[in-house]
Amino acid sequence: LVKDFLLSNIISPLGSLDDLSDFSYIFIFCNNQILCKDESIDLNTPIFVWNPKDIKEFLILIDEKLKSANESWRAFQFAQYKEKQCLLINLNKKIYPDISEIEKNIHFFRDLRYFFRKNADQWLMLAGLSYQVYKWDNDHYFCGRCGNEFNYSSNEFAKQCTKCKNVLYPQLAPAIIIGILKENKILMAHNKRFPYRFFSVLAGFVNIGESLEETIEREIFEEVGIKIKNIKYIGSQPWPFPNSLMMGFIAEWQAGEIMCDGEEIDEASWFTSEELKKIMLPSQISIARKIIDKFLETN
Ligand SMILES: [Zn+2]
Repeated sequence: LVKDFLLSNIISPLGSLDDLSDFSYIFIFCNNQILCKDESIDLNTPIFVWNPKDIKEFLILIDEKLKSANESWRAFQFAQYKEKQCLLINLNKKIYPDISEIEKNIHFFRDLRYFFRKNADQWLMLAGLSYQVYKWDNDHYFCGRCGNEFNYSSNEFAKQCTKCKNVLYPQLAPAIIIGILKENKILMAHNKRFPYRFFSVLAGFVNIGESLEETIEREIFEEVGIKIKNIKYIGSQPWPFPNSLMMGFIAEWQAGEIMCDGEEIDEASWFTSEELKKIMLPSQISIARKIIDKFLETN
């Protein structure tokens, strides 16, 4: 598995807008959404990736607007894509309503999640990384220990408190996702938060103090009341909404009848491959779908 992009070793802030041309690819966020361009602007990259010459004027406008309001925005190098530099821009959310008025026609904001309904490619995974870095940057302006401002660390990908020296790294929330098989069927569940008639395999976050195996047993028993055996690891996937690492497994039913918890899961049952064809499945990009496809390969 070869990846085209890499997280930077350190966070290097952009000096000034004149240095914009040092970067090949620019990801711009505001209010948890990513700035997109009209498709006609540049066909070489997806609509959520900007190149410096197409965005410079817009950024100059934004910069003037913010300066006149005594506000600022943040821009820093965060990754490399095929050895080219990638810049992340975190626009100040206070200016958000004005942005759409500036150049309505070629710029628009969208939830990154929207693009994750489509097929995975390296650009989308890189955008996912940029979103995680953005969320982390945006949610941690101040030190949680003493309340002073954070600076970017000069020797690792982290922030450091200007006063008490507290170091903060981007944090991950590990989660398990698991397909449970019984004879020629797979357990599919409907979460209360899911759209109508959408089913997927079971998933849950790892608690502190828990091994993955313990999380799996607890989650499965809590959500559908069954016991499982022969847990096998399938693979993992970063999931940037907001900061998960999904670890995928397959296991076999051992004992018990399905009993939904009613809190998270309101419906669950065993599906044959034929029955799966009749329902909406998770998108191709997700590890949930990989688990389901693995079941379909042999059933
Ligand atoms: Zn501090």
